[in-house]
Amino acid sequence: MPEPAHTVRCAADAASIRINTRVYELQRQGIDIIVLSLGEAHFDLPLLPLDPLPHPQIYHYSHSRGIPELREAICKYYRDAFGVPVDPEQELLITAGSKAAIHFAMMATLEPGDEVIIPEPAWVSYREQARLCRAEPIMLPLATPVCEYARVVTTRTRLLVINNPNNPSGRVYTAGELQHLLDLARRHDFFILADEAYSDFTPADAFTSLGRLDPAREHAAICNSISKTFGLSGWRIGYVIARADLLEQILKINQHIITCAPTILQHYVAVHFQTLRDLTAPQIRAVLDKRRAVAGLLNSLNLTRLPGDATFYFFLGIAPGSLRSEAFCTRLLEEERISAVPGIGYGPSCDSFIRISIGAASLEKIEYALQRIRQLIDQSASRVPVRQMQHE
Ligand code: PLP
Repeated sequence: MPEPAHTVRCAADAASIRINTRVYELQRQGIDIIVLSLGEAHFDLPLLPLDPLPHPQIYHYSHSRGIPELREAICKYYRDAFGVPVDPEQELLITAGSKAAIHFAMMATLEPGDEVIIPEPAWVSYREQARLCRAEPIMLPLATPVCEYARVVTTRTRLLVINNPNNPSGRVYTAGELQHLLDLARRHDFFILADEAYSDFTPADAFTSLGRLDPAREHAAICNSISKTFGLSGWRIGYVIARADLLEQILKINQHIITCAPTILQHYVAVHFQTLRDLTAPQIRAVLDKRRAVAGLLNSLNLTRLPGDATFYFFLGIAPGSLRSEAFCTRLLEEERISAVPGIGYGPSCDSFIRISIGAASLEKIEYALQRIRQLIDQSASRVPVRQMQHE
């Protein structure tokens, strides 16, 4: 019997999706879970009118770059919000989520054996996507300063992937750091792929898009999404911004793999773009306020975390407990009914961390969950079996 491809067999599954699949199973059994593992914030969104959507076009394939109206709306957004001019005809492609956008951008830039530098903590899919392109991920351990990225650059370096703002820490790269990385990319002739999926979840003026510093996009490519900003993760609409000749290559991949993002959903987002922005802007601000409140709770419980004040995630330290991140999250879910994502999914140097997301649970439930997390850390540090302590 033929085997599935070795490259795919060797790929790890997505830690966050694995945990969330278990959460859905438990919820189906009627078990109440405090969900801190979701990769999205839940917004209060009405179903906006469907009448203005063009019928019957919504039923059919659409332009493989994305419908022009949505391309124009996204380009205007990047120009107005981040000062990045983008040509909707040549420099933007809409696809089925930024996950696909990132993978297609990798396929368009990488040859087998090329090296991809990925700083940790790294969102769970970069490493596996690079591997699926037959490239070699070069993981930079936690907290490596930007001025030291050069140390892993070789003649085979083809791509650096940065996540700005970062999932899971919430850290934002400064303009100076981005400039430093662009200078490095220019010196060694590699691309930088900036995943800006959380570009709106930042305190005022904290965020610089990489596109602003490389307006000709000689080295910069950008991926982003409506999943987080509009709270429409299930609609699978993401996009890539790149210079015209690179985008042409990504377009071919998109044509062969998905044809186009779902036409009806593109029209919905295009028609209601401004309404969706108006509805979500205050809710994003509320998420950032909640983040500040949770940061206060973490301090009061003496829970440590990586620095950062953007996104709706925290990357919590679980040392000095003896449990590694997988075992910690398994216990948290199976015994405490709280879901979080093991840090190991974000790179080998992240095994003494777990990621929590504050986007879906209430502040009261988060507070309760943090107390249980504190307790589990303390129990596992004291070497007394956790079960035994619970029964004492
Ligand atoms: N990039 C980052 C950093 C993410 O956290 C996610 C989702 O969790 C994605 C990309 C993928 O988002 P989507 O494919 O829904 O656009």
